[in-house]
Amino acid sequence: MNNKNSDLGFSTRAIHHGYNPQEHQGALIPPIYLTSTFTFATTEYGAGCFAGEEPGYFYTRIGNPTLALLEARMAALENGEAAVAFGSGMGAIAATLWTLLRPTDEIIVCRTLYGCTFALLHHGLAEFGVKVRHVDMSDLGNLRAAICPATRMIYCESPANPNMQLVDIAAVAEIARQHPRITFAVDNTYCTPYLQRPLELGADLVVHSATKYLNGHGDITAGIVVTRQSLAERIRLQGLKDLTGAVLSPQDAFLLMRGLKTLALRMERHCSNAQIIAEYLQEHPRVQWVAYPGLPSFAQYSLAQQQMKLPGGMLAFELKGGLATGSRFMNALQLFSRAVSLGDAESLAQHPASMTHSTYTPEERAEHGIAEGLVRLSVGLEDIADLLADLAQALDACVEPAAPLPAVEAVARIGKALP
Ligand SMILES: *Cc1c(COP(=O)(O)O)cnc(C)c1O
Repeated sequence: MNNKNSDLGFSTRAIHHGYNPQEHQGALIPPIYLTSTFTFATTEYGAGCFAGEEPGYFYTRIGNPTLALLEARMAALENGEAAVAFGSGMGAIAATLWTLLRPTDEIIVCRTLYGCTFALLHHGLAEFGVKVRHVDMSDLGNLRAAICPATRMIYCESPANPNMQLVDIAAVAEIARQHPRITFAVDNTYCTPYLQRPLELGADLVVHSATKYLNGHGDITAGIVVTRQSLAERIRLQGLKDLTGAVLSPQDAFLLMRGLKTLALRMERHCSNAQIIAEYLQEHPRVQWVAYPGLPSFAQYSLAQQQMKLPGGMLAFELKGGLATGSRFMNALQLFSRAVSLGDAESLAQHPASMTHSTYTPEERAEHGIAEGLVRLSVGLEDIADLLADLAQALDACVEPAAPLPAVEAVARIGKALP
């Protein structure tokens, strides 16, 4: 990111960074370079591109001007040197881990992870000889004790999907810094750089599912890695080009940049809606517990205040009566949609044990702090009064199964059915 732009505010960078209309026929909006390949003026120039001696583009899986603009903008927003765009969050995570880990290496991860990241580690990398250790990083002694000569990476989510557990990013970065061979990576999907910037707290690398808040409109899948220049180049040339091929389409990069322009506005509204809903649920007699970093009752409230600008748009809770009541509650929702994913304008509700985190066995869920009755809400951008009304009617409806028909009515119905 150039010095001139680093002085500009977050939204100004999200809207303008890296683009000069005068270099594009005056077009206010960046054009989409919808091309898979690029022509070479001469054979020698093409050879120079392949040798890395000429700066030009040659094939979209390795680079494209529309993707390059998105990457420059994301690097500017996360305050990192460089970024690499991917066709999904899992593409970004897989390419990063495949680039950095080799057989017999160890990776230390936080207690709870998004279901497909858990599956990539335990069902994917483990098969190739990488050892995975889960550590409850709320006690940093656990982390120090788990580091060994084979440790190459520390990886965490904060807040974790779905139980909202936080990791003290600056404290973990401090420990990781004492071991130059270890790369510390943070999945910043839940927060976006508007709420939390792990690189400023000392992390080496940030990954995102840009499918979620960064795009914000639920119409694409995308992923991003932001890190120092040399590591970004390795991830591009190994993880993206050779190991996964998980490239983002230029049209989707365009939509993602459209989403980024309103990121700050959207995050403010997601957070204010979620705060009101968390407070409402916490007071409701049918709610067992609520996990939301903006509640003073949240176990890591002070850490949230310290490392997050606002508490986010995601929350988890459990109803009294557990799973059965939770299912009735979800079925009764009318405005919230029953759907996985998160960070969209539409409010979404899902049940991790049967949906996003069904990649864990029931025993693994218990071990990793994912309650069977936990309901996860992605609070959207609708009017708060309408969201509260929907939750209120679903909480009323969820308690008992539908009452049996009164005897008189039942007899009358049976009577009608008789010949
Ligand atoms: C959704 C998600 C991912 C995976 O991203 P995709 O874009 O679905 O591939 C990774 N991490 C977290 C925290 C997520 O919520």
